Amino acid sequence: MLYLFNTLTHRKEEFTPLHPPLVTYYSCGPTVYDFAHIGHARTFIFADILQRVLEFNNFKVKRVMNITDVGHLTSDRDSGEDKMEKGAKRENKSVWDIAEFYTQDFMLMLKRLNIQVPETICKATDNIKEMIDLINILEKKGFTYQIADGVYFNTSKFSSYGGLTGMTLLELQKNLKAGSRVEMVEGKKHPTDFALWKFSYPNGRSFGSPSNGLRVNAQDDVSSRRQMEWDSPWGKGFPGWHIECSAMSMKYLGNTIDIHTGGADHIPIHHTNEIAQSEAASGKIFVRFWLHAQHLTVEGAKMSKSLHNFYRLKDINEKGFDNLALRYLYLTAHYRTAMNFTWKAMEGAQRAFDQLRRKLLKIKEQRTVNKKIILSEEKREKVKKFQQKFTEVINDDLNTAAGLAIVWDVVKSDITPGDKYDLIMLFDKILGLDLSQITDNREQRTIPVEIKELVEKREELRRVQKWDEADKVRIEIEGKGFLILDSKDGTKVKRN
Ligand SMILES: [Zn+2]
Repeated sequence: MLYLFNTLTHRKEEFTPLHPPLVTYYSCGPTVYDFAHIGHARTFIFADILQRVLEFNNFKVKRVMNITDVGHLTSDRDSGEDKMEKGAKRENKSVWDIAEFYTQDFMLMLKRLNIQVPETICKATDNIKEMIDLINILEKKGFTYQIADGVYFNTSKFSSYGGLTGMTLLELQKNLKAGSRVEMVEGKKHPTDFALWKFSYPNGRSFGSPSNGLRVNAQDDVSSRRQMEWDSPWGKGFPGWHIECSAMSMKYLGNTIDIHTGGADHIPIHHTNEIAQSEAASGKIFVRFWLHAQHLTVEGAKMSKSLHNFYRLKDINEKGFDNLALRYLYLTAHYRTAMNFTWKAMEGAQRAFDQLRRKLLKIKEQRTVNKKIILSEEKREKVKKFQQKFTEVINDDLNTAAGLAIVWDVVKSDITPGDKYDLIMLFDKILGLDLSQITDNREQRTIPVEIKELVEKREELRRVQKWDEADKVRIEIEGKGFLILDSKDGTKVKRN
């Protein structure tokens, strides 16, 4: 039996899907306006482990992850700039280029951390019609109101608003009022109300213009006006961030789904609002199990641009650490505990991971030498126990730390090398440390000519200061499984 901690009920529950063996599973994806960092890595490794555990339990997983490429504002509460538009201005590129570039960067991070790519990846900008349709339903049902800034969801009309937080609507509103940092959009009826559709021209220039189908207005030049906007029954504008996830989850997986994941910071606003608008529209339960990964701090501090501690995988590699050693590090803590990343812990994880690979290599060699060992009854029992124990801890709300401890127990045990190897390969289906790929001459394998040529091409681009193009070549090289290390002594390339 599989037990998962459900944020909705605040307790561990036995998981059973609505239509076994099918499990419908939605993961909130990245907002692609900047590089993915190691905090994202932790959240998506957790979501990956969950998918692997579901499959390990013989469920058939149908999983969707969105790419947010419009509408996520710098404040989660409808004020501030659209992160995507801001990113485009920062880099003097079109929003579409920004989205494409950082989506690729994100997908590369998944690959390098051996994170399985969900079956369906959907972009918000490809699903604008579905969002407008959903807002239309909400409007007809009387859950919305329109103000100068956009179309808003009236949270006072939804009686169970905020259930995910464990607080009532009144408590939430009181909290928001007490925290004066919340900017109130003018005309908003309640502090908890949120935007479904924001107007491009809040001052009323294009109000009420009836829509004749959808038209995307992408401009190549960067100016003060928005680059991404669409016609809608309410006026030209763009969707709010929350409606995106509801519309895509309902489109690809149906009104009620089994599991929805995200970072714990999504609980009070993003996921609370997703529930309100989805359930108000469909009249059905939106998500049965909500699972959240706790946040990551770096050297004891919250990650922030000003502290320069938004580490990327590149930073991990530059200090000589493997991507999968970071995965190993994350597996040593439970996803529901806040984790503090330190370089010391990273060193420890790399050491342990190297040691595990060395031991496993030896086991692999011994296994082929002593193939005909016959197991005693006692050892056979031990093998069974290891397998049972591992399944038990992993099915107890994904306790990967205990799972790793069992891997080490297996390594140190007296069962045959063949059994050790088979058990660890089985466990690695969940841990995802790519342990079947170990070899003893990782460093010595030669660099193919194709890669050498790409490295030269990048050098040339850098020489003529075509930094963007050079970076694209770097991403291409990394996509082929190699790492570029720049230092004052020149550029080196090695296998990842
Ligand atoms: Zn979302």
